[in-house]
Formats: sequence, structure tokens, C-alpha cells
Amino acid sequence: MRRKLAAGNWKMNGTNASLTELQALIAAHPTPQVDILICPPATLIVQAAGLSADSPLMIGAQDCHAAASGAHTGDISAPMLADAGAVAVILGHSERRQDHAESSTLVAAKATAAHAAHLTAIICVGESLAEREAAQTLDVIAEHLRHSLPDSATAANTVIAYEPIWAIGTGLTPSPAQISEVHRFLRAELTARFGAEPAQGIRLLYGGSVKPANAPEIFALADVDGALVGGASLTTAEFSPIITALE
Ligand code: 13P
Repeated sequence: MRRKLAAGNWKMNGTNASLTELQALIAAHPTPQVDILICPPATLIVQAAGLSADSPLMIGAQDCHAAASGAHTGDISAPMLADAGAVAVILGHSERRQDHAESSTLVAAKATAAHAAHLTAIICVGESLAEREAAQTLDVIAEHLRHSLPDSATAANTVIAYEPIWAIGTGLTPSPAQISEVHRFLRAELTARFGAEPAQGIRLLYGGSVKPANAPEIFALADVDGALVGGASLTTAEFSPIITALE
């Protein structure tokens, strides 16, 4: 049975003042029935991990370099994130694929580094609006999945997040049938590559404009094991009901 996961991606938002939201989140969910992960900006990982050390709340990061150390000014490695207290890292988010021209091959190298550092890799896949309108959604997702997922992926160290680019921060979401189609396809692709048992254990998150109002409908879908939440993860007032909807 896959344990559900409510993951929050703070993106480039948050300062020390935002840590009060984490305190409120911990207080609101002392014994959650699902995994809860917040990925703050790297500047807050140490403080966030310290704050949540005696709670079920887990802290993650939003990216890592593929190398463990070296001459890479401005970058942060997977062992450094683990050392700071992160237990997971988001990789291949569409904003990084766009802003930093990240390829699926690079994402796989980063995921290999994350696994070596004992971090869970949350690997993002998803189509643009133009690709969906051209009926290329499943082709794009197959390409993302095939090339972004390293052979070291297991149910214990890898989570896949389906994030249609056109649904991120727009208030638009795919229909339940569209989400189901992609999640079923992801499960089938994972089964073909890794075998039935590992593929059954890998959690599949949906991400893109998840809010308290639409979370129950999305979480009722088979093969949706949780959410990767952006804007609504920034405040406990919005994230808490999403967690509750998953429980
Ligand atoms: P929003 O929830 O703000 O649409 O962002 C989704 C996302 O990109 C999470 O990684």
C-alpha cells in the first residue's frame, strides 16, 4: 500500500519570517495519516529541518547539482542538502527545465546524485498547453519519464510528479479523466521498465493549481498518491485542508 504524500514546493518564496507557517503546520498535524513534506528555498533548509526535527514534517529541497562537490559556483550538491537536513529533492520541475534549460538527461544525473546521498528524488514530468492541444501529452510524458528516471530508481527513493505546465499557477486543472489517463500511463510505463512490484510502490503525485476546493476530487482518483503543491503550500491555512483531504 502506497503511503500518501502531501508535498509543498515553496519555489523562490520565503524568508525567516515564513518559518512561523511551518510551526503552525506542525501544530495542526501532530499525528498525520500521510507523509508531509515542505521544500522551502535552500536558504531555509537548515532552520526548517531544525524546527521540524521532533515532528512528522519532513523537509526537502528544490534542486541539486549532479556532482557531489567541486567548482560549480552557486550550485548545491545532494550530499550538502542531506547534511542540511533535507530528506528529498524536487528534480526536473518545468520551471527549471525552462529557466535553466535542464534536459531529461541532466535530471537523471541529478536523480542519481540524489539517490547516492540517500535523498528521495521527486521527478517532475508534464506537457505544455501546445503539446496537449497537439495530442502529444503521452508522448512528452513518456520521453520525460524514460530519460529523467535513472536505473537506481526504486519505490523507496523515487516519487513521480505529473505537473502539466499549463496548470501551474494558473488556476486551471486537467479534468479528472485527463489526470487519470496520465497517471495510469505513468504506472504502465513504470511497470514495463521496472516490473510490476517496484512500479506498484512508486508514488505518483499530481501538481498544478491544487487548492483546498479541488483537492478532494483529485485525491479520489485511482493512482493519485498525493500532490505537489505550489502557491497553496505557502500558508498553513491553505495547505492544511489539502493534507486533511488526503488523509
Ligand atoms: P501551483 O500549485 O502554484 O500551481 O504550483 C504547482 C507546482 O509547480 C508545484 O511544484
